[in-house]
Amino acid sequence: MIYADIIIDISSEKLDKTFQYRVPEELEQEIKVGMVVSIPFGNGNKIRKGYVIGLTDKPKVDPDRIKAISQCSSGQETTESRLIILAAWMRENYGSTMIQALKTVLPIQEKIRAKEKRYLCLNVSEEEGRKILEGLEKTRFKARTRLLRELLDKKRLEYTLAAKELGATSAVVGKMKEQGILRIEYDEIFRNSIDGKDIPREPALTLNREQEQAAEKILQEWERPEPRPVLLQGVTGSGKTQVYMRLIEEILAKGQQAVVLIPEIALTYQTVRRFYARFGEKVSVINSRQSQGERYDQFKRARGGGVQVMVGPRSALFTPFPDLGLIIIDEEHEPSYKSESTPRYHARETAIARAGIEHARVVLGSATPSLEAYSRAQSGEYGLVKLTARYGDRPMPQVSVIDLREELRGGNRSVLSRSLQEKMKERLEKKEQIMLFLNRRGYAGFVSCRSCGFVVKCPHCDVSLSEHNNGRLLCHYCGYETRKPQVCPQCGSPYIGGFKAGTQQIEKVVRDTFPGVRTLRMDFDTTRNKGSYEQILAAFAAHEADVLVGTQMIVKGHDFPDVTLVGVIAADLSLNAEDYRCGERTFQLLCQAVGRCGRGMKAGEAVIQTYHPEHYSIQASAAQDYQTFYEEEMSYRMLLDYPPASHMLAILGSGENEEVLTQAMHYLELYIYRIYREKDLHVIGPAYAAIGKVKDIYRQVIYLKHKEYKTLVRIKDQMEKYIEINSGFRKIYIQFDFS
Ligand code: ADP
Ligand code: ZN
Ligand code: ZN
Repeated sequence: MIYADIIIDISSEKLDKTFQYRVPEELEQEIKVGMVVSIPFGNGNKIRKGYVIGLTDKPKVDPDRIKAISQCSSGQETTESRLIILAAWMRENYGSTMIQALKTVLPIQEKIRAKEKRYLCLNVSEEEGRKILEGLEKTRFKARTRLLRELLDKKRLEYTLAAKELGATSAVVGKMKEQGILRIEYDEIFRNSIDGKDIPREPALTLNREQEQAAEKILQEWERPEPRPVLLQGVTGSGKTQVYMRLIEEILAKGQQAVVLIPEIALTYQTVRRFYARFGEKVSVINSRQSQGERYDQFKRARGGGVQVMVGPRSALFTPFPDLGLIIIDEEHEPSYKSESTPRYHARETAIARAGIEHARVVLGSATPSLEAYSRAQSGEYGLVKLTARYGDRPMPQVSVIDLREELRGGNRSVLSRSLQEKMKERLEKKEQIMLFLNRRGYAGFVSCRSCGFVVKCPHCDVSLSEHNNGRLLCHYCGYETRKPQVCPQCGSPYIGGFKAGTQQIEKVVRDTFPGVRTLRMDFDTTRNKGSYEQILAAFAAHEADVLVGTQMIVKGHDFPDVTLVGVIAADLSLNAEDYRCGERTFQLLCQAVGRCGRGMKAGEAVIQTYHPEHYSIQASAAQDYQTFYEEEMSYRMLLDYPPASHMLAILGSGENEEVLTQAMHYLELYIYRIYREKDLHVIGPAYAAIGKVKDIYRQVIYLKHKEYKTLVRIKDQMEKYIEINSGFRKIYIQFDFS
């Protein structure tokens, strides 16, 4: 016997409730997750519509009390049912409850009503109305008379305006409605996310030869019986966006719709403007600064055909288009495509899964693809198309790498090397602009030597140890712990410690070094208010400052044609982050930073300051050489079994009681050994997570590495069950994080 878990009419019910129904024998072959079914519901057994979200052979209650499904409407797939299938896929592949997955995919379930506008309308014929008016004019009902006269004239009045200007109080309106003279109509008003009034439409640009060939190759891929996702690797400024637009045009011509994912940080007015200029009102945007209601409106417009191109971050992936044809993921390598909350999905894999369900295409774009995407393109799992030249033959900037150890030896303790200072002086004299970039990640607790560059690393995991308040150094993969050295173990120098300078200090140093220089700063602090991010960019574009100092926020979003010098203050900040992706991340950030300059007619130049000038991530980014970087990085991943050479599952446990948490994580570890005995599984930890305690909640982690993703999924499934029935986990929250 098969039972189906069903949610009812997702547009109105709360998602938290599922109901179990029996699948009649004749439907057993047919029934699938996502399907729309008819079911008898409630005491009256009224037939209602429901969606199958899971199938099982285990009844939740006494089987005799479970009603049977009346009918399933096969062939009648709806947008919702396809999104539910996607949610089921996410639940399975990332680990979460079905409800959590559904809430991610159908976020509009929160009770939000679109804003409504009320109108008063004439409800009688004009002739009749005139007669009534004649009668009214003889009475003392002044307000009713005024209202009817106006209605006869305009036919339809906005309620609030009528109330204000004509004194049509609710009593007046109510009375006339009662008499059948007028009726009230409601219009849903959809907040449009783009104010397009001032955006002039632009015709399609003519693609250059390389762009044309790239588009052509992608279109050819789409002709194949089973088109693969295509990775479009194009250097910064090569015109990837032009290629995307060409492809979108193709999709729109077929009557289909497209989603364009962009990292949140790059989702500026400028980006949206480009798409709007090209596709006009067909384009909409969602972003995290919008209210729930605004986002709801955009999804509703998409469902109704009012929007055909949705631009947005990760969550735009779930736009309920009726006939999705294409998903583009720009800057595919960006870490923000990975969700930080359960289900911890990655937009790349999830896009490919959705495309599979919808028979849509996927294009991934990047100048510096993730190792995951590039390795799949190498193996033929993805198609690979390249753009090798900047548009208009603008040269790539000249890059110099400055060894900060030399600076210290030469007696310069400033965060600006002598060479960078000289170049800045030159540019300032020519009235050109400069960007200084501090590639600090959220957390940089590493300890290094300023004299020789030595970094304290874990002997087992080859990642930087991070400093804790108690002065001890800790590995966040395996839990290895050691004392912080007082002098450098390599050269004996006492200059060993953390890197403390922030954007604010750098801005001050710039002002002290170049009196009269105009600076702008962009970091978390200066961009907290709505719109401030764009204000700073606009001010810089308008030459209100000579130097823009900022975190990685500054490397995206805008084209500044007059920026001719980019300085990276300390490349090591991202290089020594305590995770295995830091080499990749550094390479990507540096390439992007370097790519920011020389985008106008003037040639550009970049300076990278570092304690590790010999590191391949720095060498390769200076040379803008992706292939060499990829090969080095991949061999490191293979050596240490890090993704994509292997798959990794992080099991994150959190809880208020440290002892209970430690105990639970220990049980999980033992359980894993019990259910999986093969030698090909690596179990690392439990150890304290990168941030071991947040708001008095302790956090620990176990890592599993295995070559097969499916094996990790299977182990996850078993663990989920174990956790559910085991009382030791009641006060512990366990999350799964695949990579
Ligand atoms: P990418 O996204 O690859 O960094 P963009 O699409 O932003 O590159 O293009 C870089 C610059 O070159 C933009 O200012 C863009 O308008 C211009 N450009 C690219 N392709 C063309 C083209 N075919 N015709 C005119 N301008 C182009
Ligand atoms: Zn040293
Ligand atoms: Zn370790």
